[in-house]
Amino acid sequence: MWASWCKEHRLKGLSLWSLDEKKQGSWIWKSIFKLRPTAERFLRCHVGNGRTASFWYDQWTPLGILITILGPLGPRALGVPLHSTVADACTSVGWKIRHARSPAAETLQLHLCTVPLPSISTVSDSFVWEVDNVALEGFSTKLIWESIRNRRERQSWTENVWFKGAIPSQAFMMWMTHLDRLPTRARIAIWAVNTLDSCCICNVYLESRDHLFLRCEFSEHLWLLVLHRLGYNPFQFHTWTAFMDWLGLKDNVCPLTLRRLAAQATLYSLLWERNNRLHNSISSPVSITFKKIDRLVRNSIIARKSRKKFSNLMRLWLKYE
Ligand SMILES: [Zn+2]
Repeated sequence: MWASWCKEHRLKGLSLWSLDEKKQGSWIWKSIFKLRPTAERFLRCHVGNGRTASFWYDQWTPLGILITILGPLGPRALGVPLHSTVADACTSVGWKIRHARSPAAETLQLHLCTVPLPSISTVSDSFVWEVDNVALEGFSTKLIWESIRNRRERQSWTENVWFKGAIPSQAFMMWMTHLDRLPTRARIAIWAVNTLDSCCICNVYLESRDHLFLRCEFSEHLWLLVLHRLGYNPFQFHTWTAFMDWLGLKDNVCPLTLRRLAAQATLYSLLWERNNRLHNSISSPVSITFKKIDRLVRNSIIARKSRKKFSNLMRLWLKYE
């Protein structure tokens, strides 16, 4: 009853996530608002007909909360008003969204191409609590407290993603990959039933993040070429954690900046190749994808050659050509 009263008198038809904490009068209401960043980590929306799910504030795609991912200019960039429901953003034939002008918007549009349109669904939206990607039967104070309590204060991977001189679009894509938020088929299959979950490149294994970027035959071959150019003997990355550990470890073979630059260009090119196969049915061999990586790395170094950390990198990148 209290919840219904709050919905009617406090929220007045708006999303709980959209209201300004500072403008709330009551102490209890302010305390509830303070818990929103914690709660949003665990609450997921399964879209049915999209009539109750908030397009911008509910977590209804694997990418996360869209207003956080696309920022305050997102509603204008996509042409979807801030208080729209998911149903408001589509018609019976497709999505009513403007062309993507940022990597984040492009990732969203790629994801939307792969899910059924809410307008053709007859079931209502539903909301579930999730801890570590596992949906709970109901709210579990114990599991959520365990998850919050174990939270690490400092993220050791930050420098691998947002290092000085990183290319913003590549760093953003790696950030999404690290959080495992990219719409790989394995992740989509959790949200949408009866969808293909095999790898878009090899068509054999489950398309998880670790498989697509590290373990697929195509990726393994590509990494061997990249590692050779960085001066390393051949080896393979078995997990994302091992890959990130390697990317953060100083050694005498190759500077961290060049390693991170090449790694981000490799992930970016792998995703590009995967999307090109999925959406355009065009496949390139490993050698062509490697040429793209080579070009991306060269261009990045040339554009930053006046920076101290980049001054020596072209020589190192060409050393094992
Ligand atoms: Zn594969």
